[in-house]
Amino acid sequence: METTSSAAWNETVDLLIVGSGAGAMVAALYAHDHGIRPLLIEKTSLYGGNSAMSGGALWIPANPMMAAAGVPDSREEAFTYMKHVTRGLVPDDKLDAYLETGPEMLAYLVERTRVRLQCMLTYPDYYVEAPGGKPGGRSLEPEHFDAALLGEEEFLRMREPAYQELVFGRMSMTATEAHHLLARHPGWGKLTGHIMARYWRDFGWRMKSKRDRCLSLGNALIGMLRRSLLDRNIPLWLRTSAQELVVEGGRVAGAVVERDGRTMRIGSRYGVLLAAGGFESNPTMRERYLPSPTDVAWTSGSTASTGDAIRMGTALGAALDLMNEAWWGPVTLVPGEERARVLVIEKGLPGCILVDKNGRRFVNEASPYSDIVQHMYEHDTPETPSVPAYMIFDTEYRRKYPFGPLLQAAQQPDWMIPKALRSYLKKSSTLRGLAAELGIDGKGLEQTVESFNANARAGKDPDFHRGEGGFDRYYGDDKVRPNPCLAPLASAPYYGIVAYPGEFGTKGGLKTDVRARVLREDGSVIEGLWAIGNCSASVMGPTYPGAGATIGPAMTFGFAAARDAVASAHAVERAARSATA
Ligand SMILES: Cc1cc2nc3c(=O)[nH]c(=O)nc-3n(C[C@H](O)[C@H](O)[C@H](O)COP(=O)(O)OP(=O)(O)OC[C@H]3O[C@@H](n4cnc5c(N)ncnc54)[C@H](O)[C@@H]3O)c2cc1C
Repeated sequence: METTSSAAWNETVDLLIVGSGAGAMVAALYAHDHGIRPLLIEKTSLYGGNSAMSGGALWIPANPMMAAAGVPDSREEAFTYMKHVTRGLVPDDKLDAYLETGPEMLAYLVERTRVRLQCMLTYPDYYVEAPGGKPGGRSLEPEHFDAALLGEEEFLRMREPAYQELVFGRMSMTATEAHHLLARHPGWGKLTGHIMARYWRDFGWRMKSKRDRCLSLGNALIGMLRRSLLDRNIPLWLRTSAQELVVEGGRVAGAVVERDGRTMRIGSRYGVLLAAGGFESNPTMRERYLPSPTDVAWTSGSTASTGDAIRMGTALGAALDLMNEAWWGPVTLVPGEERARVLVIEKGLPGCILVDKNGRRFVNEASPYSDIVQHMYEHDTPETPSVPAYMIFDTEYRRKYPFGPLLQAAQQPDWMIPKALRSYLKKSSTLRGLAAELGIDGKGLEQTVESFNANARAGKDPDFHRGEGGFDRYYGDDKVRPNPCLAPLASAPYYGIVAYPGEFGTKGGLKTDVRARVLREDGSVIEGLWAIGNCSASVMGPTYPGAGATIGPAMTFGFAAARDAVASAHAVERAARSATA
């Protein structure tokens, strides 16, 4: 869309940022601190997007916190790793830009803002055995953040955490705490007590709301960033949806937005940064781009991720990439929950298997969640249907481990399962009976369990090598020997649920360069337009190298985009000065 007169703007800012996730906020902070006036717009009545719902982890190799903890890493090792796991599909300069800018972005945040992060020193890269892989430290998570610092109204305007990120659906926990609880590390009972005491100690607030003010994960990250925006009076307009980009003199110069139902034109002197998330909640785009079959019910991402930025960018001739990719993870659909839950930890614990409709295993269940879904699709043929797949476990597993919305039977025996969940969890005293309940092949399931059990007792999985890799073992049960990911399914009754090929959000979108500038098909730059996060094609290509590999790049390229906008502002000022000199 072309416009001719700047007088047509209802509002003019220096940098218009579309979206309010972590990357958008980092960009706004950097822009403000370097002398240009940002405005964030968010289409819903809540800020934070998927970033707020998330685990809040960031994957930043060779980060300053690793160095402080004495964990060796280098850009060269990280480059080797990324090059290997992205299978050469991401240009070297993009990998380099990520690895160079990530630590700079972190240093800026820690020095200048409220953001406080800790290294997860034992959380391995997802392909830790690959060249350049590390056994821990590249993934960071936010420290707890006290929501009282935001004030009540502002806190309640933050998007809530996903159910799966909360203990008992309400209490917050860090990723490190979640790992202890779900894998029942020594002291997990005491830790549960500590989390409950922390929650109930906030007595005055408890009388008002069940929402935990001791924030962790994505809510903590967004809380810290939001507080930093408030410290600087950076405006964030809620219920303001970008509809269309406006081009003036060959550059993106603003956007048409709808604010509280009213159409407005916002001019932006140095351009527009798109940070409006992916398209996981847009059924038409899913059908068009994602592998088939697909269903909008299978996403754990935000309902607001409808691909708006991708649509606006392509209207200006932007190129797209990785549109068939997502941040995959097998999901379970829990009755009464709005979004799908990703099975991150449950799938690799000993005493469970994932099978296709024939009752046959087809994947290492303890491998990274993104790989599981890729295998679900690859394996899915008319002869071997694996979409959906079926997670099967025995009584011993059910007794020991939480699963999806259920606590372990030791805490929540079957008779305590709410009525609404009884038909969700299938159960039978025999494998044949369970197979009939699930609608899968009973004989196949019996044969699979028989051969799996014989090997599992010896700690072996000759078919899929479960428990051999460092990532598998991270989410295993240390107390189970000789393989923390393997135990036979030997105790009846047996249980099963249906698992779908879901995701945490999509990762294909507008093609960008090392400065997050949006590119056309011929490689030329659309001046004045940047894209970051899930509306841009990910620097991670088709893979998921480690925990935080989506928010890390969103924040890093948010920083890079803002730095580029600041540089263009300075160039414009210099040109104006020399014109008047
Ligand atoms: C349960 C869960 C756990 C996760 N855990 C992690 C993790 O630990 N680490 C990690 O790296 N990733 C994690 N992810 C993925 C991660 O949260 C997302 O990939 C990331 O936050 C996407 O960031 P974004 O800035 O692209 O989008 P978002 O954070 O979703 O922000 C986009 C915002 O733009 C707004 N918007 C959309 N359209 C418009 C428009 N037209 N105008 C104005 N605003 C608009 C949306 O409402 C939204 O608020 C997790 C995701 C989920 C669901």
